[in-house]
Parts: sequence; C-alpha cells; structure tokens
Amino acid sequence: MRTTYYKVDPVNPDRGVLTEAAKLLRQGGLVAFPTETVYGLGANGLDSKAVGGIFRAKGRPSDNPLILHIDTPDKLSKLAATVPASAQALIDKYWPGPLTVVVKRLPHVPDAVTGGLDTVAVRLPDSLIARELIRLAGIPVAAPSANTSGRPSPTTAQDVARDLDGKIDAIIDAGPCAIGVESTVVDCTTPVPTLLRPGGITYEMLIAVLGEIEVDPSLAGSTAVPRSPGMKYTHYAPAAPMFLVEAGQESLSFLLRREINQALAAGKTVGAVVSAEVANELPQQVITAVYGPRAHTGVIAANLYTALRSFDNKAVDVIYAEGIAEQGLGLAVMNRLRKASGYRIICE
Ligand code: AMP
Ligand code: MG
Repeated sequence: MRTTYYKVDPVNPDRGVLTEAAKLLRQGGLVAFPTETVYGLGANGLDSKAVGGIFRAKGRPSDNPLILHIDTPDKLSKLAATVPASAQALIDKYWPGPLTVVVKRLPHVPDAVTGGLDTVAVRLPDSLIARELIRLAGIPVAAPSANTSGRPSPTTAQDVARDLDGKIDAIIDAGPCAIGVESTVVDCTTPVPTLLRPGGITYEMLIAVLGEIEVDPSLAGSTAVPRSPGMKYTHYAPAAPMFLVEAGQESLSFLLRREINQALAAGKTVGAVVSAEVANELPQQVITAVYGPRAHTGVIAANLYTALRSFDNKAVDVIYAEGIAEQGLGLAVMNRLRKASGYRIICE
C-alpha cells in the first residue's frame, strides 16, 4: 500500500486536505492524524472491517480495545448505554481534552472496538485538526496511538512514518503534539470511578472533580491483572533494554552514575534518558537523550517518547532512565518509563 502524506498548518488547516482524509476514513481507510496527546491511527469506529485494519497495521493484540473519538459531547449518548454522573462531571470539566471515559456501551458498538467488553472508551480531543477531521468524517473515529504495538508512541508524523509507512492510507502532518503522553483513562462504571491509565489529565485534576478515585492495582506496580486490557502488554519500549532508576533527588544522580560506570567498565555502549541537570554529571562517552529540566513535568512528558525513540538508530547495549516525582504529569511519565523498562527498576 502506498501511504499519502498531507502537511497541514496546525493553526489554520487546509479544509480540502481534511475533507479528503475524512473521505478516506468513511471509505474504510486508515488515516494517522495529530491530537494534543500523541498521533492517532484512525478508522471508522462503527466499521469492524476498518477497525480490523488498525490491529493488523499496528500488530496490536485483538483483546486490547480502542478509544472512540468524537467531535462534540452529545455524540457520547450514541455510543453509551448510560452516562454515569461521575462521567458527566469529568466531561463537563475536561472535554475537549486528554481524558477518556469508559462507560457501558450500546449494542451497535462493534466487538472489534471493545475487545468484546460490554464497555466502550470515548474521548473528545482538543486538537483542532483531530476534531475537524472527525466532524468532516461524520463518524466516531477509533484511534489508538499510530505506532507499531510495543514501541514508544509517536509524537511527530516522522515517528508515525517510521513505524507505519506502506501499511496505512495516509498521514496528516501538523508538527509535534503538545502534551506528548496519551489520555487519562477513567472507568466510570464502578461505584467509585477507577483510574486505569494516568495521562494528560492529572490525578490531582481528577480528585478536584470527583473527590475520590480508585487506582487500578496494576498501576502500583503489583502483579494484579489490569482492568484496562492494554495495560498488561509491554509498551513504549526503546530499541535496547532499559533500566529505570528510582530514588530521591539526593541519591538519584549518584545511583545513575554508579550503574552507568559499571556498565561502561564492562565494555558496554551506554545510553541515558535523563534530566538536563543529571546529563551534565554523566561521563562523556554516555549517549544522552535529555527529556527536560527536572522540575518541569509538562516539558518531560512532551519530550519523553522522542527521547526513547532517539536510540532507534544508535547502537547502544543498554539504556538507563532517570525517574521523576509522581506529581502532575510525573505520574503518567513514570507509568510509561516503568513499562518501557519492562519493570527493570533500580531503587535505593
Ligand atoms: P491506546 O489508544 O493505544 O493509547 O490505548 C487505549 C487504552 O485504553 C488501552 O490501555 C486500552 O486497554 C484502554 N481501553 C480502551 N477501551 C477500554 C475499555 N472498554 N475498558 C477498559 N480499558 C479500555
Ligand atoms: Mg498505544
């Protein structure tokens, strides 16, 4: 398959281009497009065959359900059997935005989308291009991240092309994504809503609306089977094995340098995914990818996947990543780093 590349202005997108891409979606095609979180791989969310194409292109396990993207809040009632008060409160506050609600589904939502579950995940993205594309398509758009399953999510059109060129119909390039980590997924079908995946809407922001929230036990690093099927798979992983160093700020740099020096002494080529502060303290031969200043979790989230992907074309034997505090977007960043490391975690 030949992939068509469209370049559009993120502020003033070309209507003609989006109309063409929307037509491809309506015809059952696969179109990668930018959102405020990461690039999504879109297909007609009511067409099982089109949705099947997403799983094939990504190599995604078929029991990992997809998020349906809509362009206005009223479309939720066409997908959900009921909208619990908790979901409505979250939607009123955070839509459009990086928040996905899981609700009971209506029967016409295909099994291919929900992985056979009786629930459906729905999001209304803030991205102008995403919303305009969905509006022009006139359908809910199923869209997981536009990467090969298991790899770091794409935050640029070039990342998408690297994984999916020749496997999908089109890629809309509107530059890098603003947030850089995926949406927050909240299951609103439980008496107290449950956080299934931390993301662009922070834990603190959820508490501000809900008062209380349960956290899926799998997020605490336990061996519990996650309720969000996608959370059980290896994810976000760079090309070489990665170790995550988690420690207080005083000992973090020391621990990282100790591990890195041991690997260097063993003759390994070493990569590091670290803050600007720690990068300055590492031996010169370490290949570093700086994700941002330690205190700026928003900057770190925006640069995280680019940092992980920067090792794709570098022959490193091992990568060490620096953990950060789990406040604000730090919770989502640490969730991704733990998964990217396959839970190879080095603590004090
Ligand atoms: P992705 O779009 O690739 O970022 O992944 C979507 C995430 O939402 C995965 O972790 C899925 O398991 C999760 N998800 C989608 N639908 C449901 C659902 N009905 N119930 C629970 N989790 C879901
Ligand atoms: Mg994904």
